[in-house]
Amino acid sequence: MNKSFKGINTICTHVGEVKDEQFKGAVSPIYMSSSYAFEEVDVKRYPRYFNTPNQEALSKKIAALEHAESALIFGSGMAAISHALMAFLKAGDHILLQQTLYGGTYNFAVTQFEKYGIEYSFTEGWTVEDFEKKIKPNTKVVYIETPSNPLLTITDMEAVANLSKQHGLISMIDNTFASPVNQNPIDFGIDIVLHSATKYMGGHSDICAGAVAASKEHIHTIWESSICFGGSLSDQTVWLLERSLKTMGLRVKAQNENAQKMAEFLAYHQDVDAVYYPGLGSHPDHEIAKKQMNGFGGMLSFELKEGIKASEFMKNLQLIKPSMSLAGVESTVLLPVLTSHSLMSTEDRAKQGIKDGLIRFSVGIEEVEDLITDIEQALAQLKSKKVLV
Ligand code: PLP
Repeated sequence: MNKSFKGINTICTHVGEVKDEQFKGAVSPIYMSSSYAFEEVDVKRYPRYFNTPNQEALSKKIAALEHAESALIFGSGMAAISHALMAFLKAGDHILLQQTLYGGTYNFAVTQFEKYGIEYSFTEGWTVEDFEKKIKPNTKVVYIETPSNPLLTITDMEAVANLSKQHGLISMIDNTFASPVNQNPIDFGIDIVLHSATKYMGGHSDICAGAVAASKEHIHTIWESSICFGGSLSDQTVWLLERSLKTMGLRVKAQNENAQKMAEFLAYHQDVDAVYYPGLGSHPDHEIAKKQMNGFGGMLSFELKEGIKASEFMKNLQLIKPSMSLAGVESTVLLPVLTSHSLMSTEDRAKQGIKDGLIRFSVGIEEVEDLITDIEQALAQLKSKKVLV
């Protein structure tokens, strides 16, 4: 596609299509072959090599969305994260990870690195000074997540990217919560951008996928080890992800707007104790978020006032669904203590600031008035039943 077309919705809709040369259909055909010719061909294609026609085309869309030279698509967000990490780390190396992280990534670090002789440590906060303090002579990779799951902490991407460059380290970011609509870390100097495409990229709670975007050189390094680990995505799902991405710009912008309104509503609610959302002026890192984000995202977390039981409140919701995942067009809630961060010890959760009553709210595209009505009726039911602790 002409490189002068830069609009997010134009990229979402048009970049990285497989052209239907034969029938001139409006959408990409799916190439389901798991076996391709090996003689008299430019490229030897195989699904685990990440280079079927659909995989290759979708990688171009992801790269364009993340302002990257290249990209790869994986079978899940954790496949993308683990394959990227293992491509750059070897025995004797050290990786420095941000303290506030998605529970699965934290679990990967604490259960896997030791087996491979890889040293790891977590920061004690998310300022650049917190990272600087913990860099060691054998540090290879710095890993951040902003906004973080589930507390929406904000890390200064440019500061961490500069620090990493000064020390010759590779910087990686989990950009899942922001999506490429709200944040493009490569523009701030981050080397490698990771996504659980299960979330905003998929957007309909029906796909499990992951993505990595970076320079051609870094993607080649990741590719070389990923063809050994084998975490590529099936072409059927690649096609579904391509279709989902066409509306990502529209979906995420609607979710940004709704989340901002819901955060403001909850922040002033008498039954709410705390709201975590980078779009609120009261968020401690609102200014950094403003500098590096195009929108503040569709995710927020909140705590109800002491005495109101979060799990009972969630049971009373009629429209907003309790759900393990996030970022679908439908609004959902979950308790990180029972789901995304359940594999962490109570002490480690406490270190991150994740309380048992913390509710993570993935705001969908419904009308805000209906979401407010649902929350009000759920709280009213609790009070009428006096299900308080
Ligand atoms: N990163 C973040 C921020 C997540 O929330 C998740 C899943 O919830 C992942 C990564 C892992 O993604 P997946 O479940 O697609 O492997």
